[in-house]
Amino acid sequence: MNDMEKSAPSHFIRQIIEQDLQAGKSGGRVHTRFPPEPNGYLHIGHAKSIVLNFGIAKAFQGQCNLRFDDTNPHKENIEFVDSIRQDVRWLGYDWQDRPYYASDYFQQLHDFAVELIKAGKAYVCDLDSERMRAYRGTLKEPGRESPYRSRSVEENLDLFARMKAGEFADGERVLRARIDMASPNMNLRDPTLYRIRHGVIHHQTGEAWCIYPMYDYTHPVSDALEGITHSLCTLEFEDHRPLYDWILDNISSPCHPRQIEFSRLNLEYTVLSKRKLTQLVEEGVVEGWSDPRMPTIAGLRRRGYTAASIREFCRRIGITKSDGLVEMGVLENCIRENLDAHAPRRMAVMHPLKLVIENYPEDGSESLTAPNHPKDESMGQRRIPFCREVYIDRADFREQANKKYKRLITGGEVRLRNAYVIKCEAVVKNNQGEIIELRCSYDPDTLGKNPQGRKVRGVIHWVSARHGVKGEVRLYDRLFSRADADRVEEGGRFTDNLNPDALRTLTDCYFEPMLAEAGTDEQYQFEREGYFILDGLEAGRERPVFNRIVTLRDSWAKIDQGGG
Ligand code: ATP
Ligand code: MG
Repeated sequence: MNDMEKSAPSHFIRQIIEQDLQAGKSGGRVHTRFPPEPNGYLHIGHAKSIVLNFGIAKAFQGQCNLRFDDTNPHKENIEFVDSIRQDVRWLGYDWQDRPYYASDYFQQLHDFAVELIKAGKAYVCDLDSERMRAYRGTLKEPGRESPYRSRSVEENLDLFARMKAGEFADGERVLRARIDMASPNMNLRDPTLYRIRHGVIHHQTGEAWCIYPMYDYTHPVSDALEGITHSLCTLEFEDHRPLYDWILDNISSPCHPRQIEFSRLNLEYTVLSKRKLTQLVEEGVVEGWSDPRMPTIAGLRRRGYTAASIREFCRRIGITKSDGLVEMGVLENCIRENLDAHAPRRMAVMHPLKLVIENYPEDGSESLTAPNHPKDESMGQRRIPFCREVYIDRADFREQANKKYKRLITGGEVRLRNAYVIKCEAVVKNNQGEIIELRCSYDPDTLGKNPQGRKVRGVIHWVSARHGVKGEVRLYDRLFSRADADRVEEGGRFTDNLNPDALRTLTDCYFEPMLAEAGTDEQYQFEREGYFILDGLEAGRERPVFNRIVTLRDSWAKIDQGGG
């Protein structure tokens, strides 16, 4: 896949699977699945699950199914289905054109429910949701049996058929498993298997059904019907495993997959709950699901993250059973390392200050060559036009500074990257005393070689004023200013933790001319500034818009900005 991604990691789930294979379980097959609910876009937490499930399948020459867990039609839609397909594919995984939908099993799920009713293991219950909750008991107290629990098989079959035929309103009746109201595990206290939902058009089955199976019932049945061997899910389902097993033990299931739980990803400075991400989108806090500040796969892609860097991140965080908060720096380092190795270098000036080279011919210009990458000759060279007027960054000039300041000062010399050594001769100011231009001279003998015995302060980047392309830069940063972005103070909301500086827009930038041809899937290092990509939604605008992917160094850790 990529040189970053070395050997596939070993972890407790792989070890369990290896033992199962050695014990001859499931005929030596390994078959996993990734089961997103299409009620939002995928995020970096889902990537962990995707990389795990598809990775295991690959490591054991097995298969991994992409299955839409679409039993909740009022929250789901086709936009989400399409985005999930796109994101899984972009991450580099292939479900071999075998997409699965839990809704494909609505008939079988129904028939298994009838089996359960006939075996006296499921019943139709008329308790409304409030009373159902009261009957359910608490962690300390056992539940009470529903007065409808002892209905006859015939009555249950009749009522379930009438639920399906649409005779009852939403919430009027549910189908429940008949397990154990005194179980210490709340999930086994006669959980709901089916509920009624009228008036929704399901994105796959239309109006064919008005009863919908619950997740805890659908999931084991779907796994079994697909011949899944290992059903990997996050830790919150640990307490649901006895129900998973109960269902498969009590229907004529073709097989009995093994559920194994691992801890979900929590990442600093962001939220990974679909409910909260939906809220950010719906309240217009961000531009949408693919806003480059979002931890969604679509957002990270538009931000400029590569699929390889996300897979590498998932490899580094590993698979365990212990919950924790992963540092944002881990993710950022993955993309930094990836781009440091592969991103071509370019020059861009974000806060332009004009510099006039007085001893350079008025209308002269020349084409200089520069390496695309300082450490990788195979990436070749590029041409950069140079002329009498160039822009440099305002931060690269001070009228006076001490020796620690490795940039241009009045009377001092610096090298313009890939070009000549220049000297600042004079400063031009406007009436307000602001610097508007630097008058400089250049030394024609310094192209590409260090002047003998001459000490220049440093190397700064520049863009030709005549040839440069004008455009916009969006400096993205972390979405929240607290590492524990979910934490709320008394009476507050998690949105109180949003970072107001997560997006800063600079509209007066200059790019070296080659960047006019940049594509939306090409990341660049803008020398000394960070890594950037052409914005995918703004592509085609006359003035290009570049998004900052990540800074060159971790700017959230304290760094020495250089004195002066
Ligand atoms: P919801 O609250 O809507 O159920 P979800 O995050 O569980 O949200 P699903 O679409 O059900 O979303 O998730 C699909 C799969 O991705 C599940 O197997 C789930 O365990 C896994 N997953 C979701 N979030 C994370 C996470 N943060 N870390 C690891 N795996 C995750
Ligand atoms: Mg879920």
